[in-house]
Amino acid sequence: MAIGQYDIVTDTTPSGQPVVNAYSTSLGALGPAARASIERTAEIVDWESGIFGPYPFEAQGGVAGPVDGIGFALETQTRSVYGPGFWRRGANTYVVVHENAHQWFGDSVSVAEWRHIWLNEGFASYAEWLWSEEQGEGTAQELFDFTYASYPADDEFWQVLPGDPGADRVFDDAVYDRGAMTLHQLRLAVGDDAFFEILPPWATEHRYGNGTIAQFQALAERISGLDLDDLFTTWLFTTGRPDVASAARKTAPPTEPKSWAKIRESHHLMSH
Ligand SMILES: [Zn+2]
Repeated sequence: MAIGQYDIVTDTTPSGQPVVNAYSTSLGALGPAARASIERTAEIVDWESGIFGPYPFEAQGGVAGPVDGIGFALETQTRSVYGPGFWRRGANTYVVVHENAHQWFGDSVSVAEWRHIWLNEGFASYAEWLWSEEQGEGTAQELFDFTYASYPADDEFWQVLPGDPGADRVFDDAVYDRGAMTLHQLRLAVGDDAFFEILPPWATEHRYGNGTIAQFQALAERISGLDLDDLFTTWLFTTGRPDVASAARKTAPPTEPKSWAKIRESHHLMSH
């Protein structure tokens, strides 16, 4: 529930779904960036539907909260809520991609227990990498390389297990960033064709229900025909920075993808 003074903008998607967007009148100079981001919701949901399968709900939209309001964003079903911090660098479609990916991964398919939070945050974060790739602002591989290099091997980041982060670290950076890295490693292991065949049935088979990481691994193994136990164990359930062939080959540090700053800042706001 959002109570306050809002400008309400309603619309209908090409598929006929109602769109309700609300912008706090207190946003002032942040208002245009909030609008330029949230008003792209229907376009983003349509793009996500092409990757994740049919959108699981009957309405779309977003709420830009007041300037002195929440410091995070939340994937409220059919109408995500955004704090003002996301608009300080201008329009930010990455947070809109993230929260709407949660409509599939989090809202429709919910975690069986909080320890499976990677199924929400890893997937919503990887959706941002895919969006960056789509927008020409850095490929998922470039984001992987830069993220990997940005956390030194002795960084505490690598001590948190995305597959079982512990009750007080459910929304740790590792769940988001190493979580997205895990999905990228899965994509590299099974190939693009199989990887993009795994996501829609995950959303469909567990629609309006619950899921566990073991169930997702089983689905990925069924579709790819590969034993993925080593990959899941290494990336989700083992402390320390995993070795990566592509990183070891590189002599120069990777260059910063154009999308990095906004994704990084968005994750920082989401996870703190
Ligand atoms: Zn999230």
